[in-house]
Amino acid sequence: MKVVLLSPHTDDIELGAGGTLMRLLEEERNTFRWVVFSACENAVPQGLPPDTLKDEFAAVASHVGIADYHVHSFPNMNLPASASEIREELSRLKNEFQPDLVIAPSLNDSHQDHKTVAEEAVRVFKKDTSIIGYELPWNNLVFQPQLLVRLTQKQIEEKWRVLSLYRSQFVLQRSYFSKDFIFGWARMRGAQCSSEYAEAFEVVRWFMR
Ligand SMILES: [Zn+2]
Repeated sequence: MKVVLLSPHTDDIELGAGGTLMRLLEEERNTFRWVVFSACENAVPQGLPPDTLKDEFAAVASHVGIADYHVHSFPNMNLPASASEIREELSRLKNEFQPDLVIAPSLNDSHQDHKTVAEEAVRVFKKDTSIIGYELPWNNLVFQPQLLVRLTQKQIEEKWRVLSLYRSQFVLQRSYFSKDFIFGWARMRGAQCSSEYAEAFEVVRWFMR
């Protein structure tokens, strides 16, 4: 299966779909293209170089063994202004890579950057490609967990390991950037599907292959 990973900012896929990514990586026939739209050069914690998040993302991609990635420099918090360029980028990607599955932010994500990427992904891929939207509870006003992906302890530990590579984010002390939160959230979704751990997704489109 050819999988496209869409991250408005560098850590979004790891947070919303990191365990599922670990599960997909275990299947050798899967190939990946990972696109980040903003490396948040204007929003790194004080005193750190502007490329900090880009470098941290590169460390994550290298750790999981995905070499096919691209980090754009669209301005953080202002992706809606770049919607048509994002759409063109996604159209190019669709023609070149011809994915089977797109993992995007949820259409119910209230962050303007996430919403823009979700909406443009639907515009570009809706007729040809299965699309699922990942959960970021602090941004979702509503979320329908239509697809549950059961995860092993090892997969959720590996999710936390890659999140730990974003050292700059620990400075910000975000409540969701903690091991307790990541494991508790996965346990909550796991309780919905007879599993110790899980991640949830909204299904925007699903094509049987
Ligand atoms: Zn984000």
